[in-house]
Amino acid sequence: MNLILFGPPGAGKGTQAERLKAAHGLAHLSTGDMLRAAVKAGTELGKQAEAIMAAGKYVSDGIVVGLVEERIEQPEAANGFILDGFPRTLPQAEALDRMLQKHGKELDAVIEFAVDDDVLVERVLRRAKESGGSRADDTRETVAYRLTVYHKETAPLLPYYGEKGILHRVDGMADIETVTREIQEILDKTGD
Ligand code: AMP
Repeated sequence: MNLILFGPPGAGKGTQAERLKAAHGLAHLSTGDMLRAAVKAGTELGKQAEAIMAAGKYVSDGIVVGLVEERIEQPEAANGFILDGFPRTLPQAEALDRMLQKHGKELDAVIEFAVDDDVLVERVLRRAKESGGSRADDTRETVAYRLTVYHKETAPLLPYYGEKGILHRVDGMADIETVTREIQEILDKTGD
């Protein structure tokens, strides 16, 4: 089972991805986590990405596509994967299609997390405070900017998946258990 969790920053994609990973043995592929790991490790790629991420901008399509392709070939993704925070642009979505075709894989579902922007800003700021505020991009200004970029660059991808007939939506403002249940209902229907 190969899934995309789609939605703005703070929508709860990471939390649900961890639950799906535990329940179904899927690989959780978060491009944000991969990039933060590269920054922390001080790799060349991390050095390139650091300032862009701190500003809330998108790193180049080529970088994230390369990171994802490396991981979907790994044994951890043999049962399937959950993409979290990827694709974020149309070229990324097209590159993903090509990559899946090349590896003989298919997407089963794209799950959109619908959440109001004002709820998101407060949620991300609370999450930052609770986690010790370790992310440079979790200031009020940068979160607002990341949302603007999401609406401009990423939300327009929704029709791309709508046309493929694999797009589903959950209420990202519901509590964690309810969202998990809604996702499971979608997966049951898509023939998990
Ligand atoms: P996230 O943890 O998904 O919110 O990602 C944190 C930051 O990493 C984003 O604000 C971007 O700077 C960068 N990033 C993560 N995924 C992508 C992507 N698919 N395309 C471009 N930039 C990304």
